[in-house]
Amino acid sequence: MSARLLIVGPQGSGKGTQGVRIAEALGIPVVSTGDVFRANVAQGTELGQQVKAIIDGGSLVPDELTSAVVRDRLSQADAAEGFLLDGYPRNLAQVMHLDEFLEGRGESLDAVIALVVPREESLSRLTARASEQGRADDTEEAIATRLGIYERETAPILDVYGTRDVVDEIDGVGSLDEVTARIFAALEARGLHASPAA
Ligand code: ADP
Repeated sequence: MSARLLIVGPQGSGKGTQGVRIAEALGIPVVSTGDVFRANVAQGTELGQQVKAIIDGGSLVPDELTSAVVRDRLSQADAAEGFLLDGYPRNLAQVMHLDEFLEGRGESLDAVIALVVPREESLSRLTARASEQGRADDTEEAIATRLGIYERETAPILDVYGTRDVVDEIDGVGSLDEVTARIFAALEARGLHASPAA
């Protein structure tokens, strides 16, 4: 099914997990900038070497570089009929870059899923993840930096998408399955039929 989606939410909102579930149910690829950057760091590519220190510190990779990575990924065959963006765009400049790219293809986003999770809840989930997974950017300082960037730069993109009537605010507190069900219901209301993966 053709579906062009974006999932937005603060760090620790569960957007990575929910993004994978939605994409599987709709048969579209997940395009996660965080995953692309981490894979490049792990493989020691030139891009990875360029972005490692930035990511570890919790800051944003420069917009031009990030947008180029996304354009490249969205130009691959499997994204022709749809995709779910996770982690991009995360500021207004990136929204403009994405608009320009999609308009050039005669496309636009069908839905923006905004996961709503209170700051205290995100913080406690991230702290738990830090001890389980040991991600290099899950230090207390990098987490604070990322949450600050989210509140200052990323949350405002929802105002822009709000004017286009594509935003679905979803309560992100509850079990993973409860949150997935809320998202599927919202997508269904937009005519996007997500069938849970077997
Ligand atoms: P989180 O949402 O927990 O911060 P992500 O996996 O989405 O984790 O991103 C990890 C890091 O990758 C970010 O802190 C940032 O350094 C970089 N990154 C990811 N997406 C973007 C983006 N759209 N623009 C700039 N940097 C990004």
